[in-house]
Amino acid sequence: MRLRIAPDQAAKIATALARAGTREIGGQMFGEQLAPSDFRVSELTVQKRGGAFARFVVDVVQAMKDARRFFDRTKHDYRRFNYIGEWHSHPSFAVEPSVTDATTMRKLVADAEFRGAFAVLMIVRLDGDKITRGAWLFDPRGGERLVTLEFEHDDRKTDNDRREGDGRGQRIRWI
Ligand SMILES: [Zn+2]
Repeated sequence: MRLRIAPDQAAKIATALARAGTREIGGQMFGEQLAPSDFRVSELTVQKRGGAFARFVVDVVQAMKDARRFFDRTKHDYRRFNYIGEWHSHPSFAVEPSVTDATTMRKLVADAEFRGAFAVLMIVRLDGDKITRGAWLFDPRGGERLVTLEFEHDDRKTDNDRREGDGRGQRIRWI
């Protein structure tokens, strides 16, 4: 599976990570199916309630509000626009699912109320100007695999965003 993050949503992650520092943050990902096994995240939410994402606690009330807003905006065309998964940061440890992360995702997709074919967990980490990231897919039948994750760039916009007089530029390096 290929998962692209739209440029404005990638910028949103970069800003939120820089602001959060060593605090773990996260939220939900919603988006569009472009082709079989090819998705783009067009709406990434940042959970407002700060907290211990080491324990991967989702603010269910906010998540439901965000979901409703996304589905209203995309006119409830669920075959094309749907929930993609969860994301959170690991500012202090490796960019891979912890045991708790994997358990939480397995429970989520195995739940009788879960309607999707899969849920993705994306993990990101900011070190200086570098963002390391990874994504894993979990399906209700117990399948788990690595997702090809792509942060779409808008290079022209990034160039414009560079601060004047700073030869080093301010762009975030995505690795
Ligand atoms: Zn985690």
